[in-house]
Amino acid sequence: MKCDFCSSENAKYWYDAPGFDVYTVILRQGETIGRSAGSWFACEHCAELIDKGDRDGLVDWAIDAGLRRRVFKEETIPVVKFVMTIIHERFFEMKRGDKNPVNN
Ligand SMILES: [Zn+2]
Repeated sequence: MKCDFCSSENAKYWYDAPGFDVYTVILRQGETIGRSAGSWFACEHCAELIDKGDRDGLVDWAIDAGLRRRVFKEETIPVVKFVMTIIHERFFEMKRGDKNPVNN
């Protein structure tokens, strides 16, 4: 299972958070073109940052991971960081309860 934060292939946990319109949040458009499904998968490292409430650390880690995997280019970091911060803020707002282990 893929980590929804840093995209590593090794998600160990999931968090329950009611679905929300990701792209509506970002673009502030009336129509929904993307939606968070309601559960967020996290690898060991991201779960640790989430549980500590280290939001900056989580964004920085996800950006470093994205750069390593060439998901986006260096020059787009400011935009990626901006968007990612908004999405993560929503996640922290919506998150219900503690992490749950992924059953493999
Ligand atoms: Zn992760």
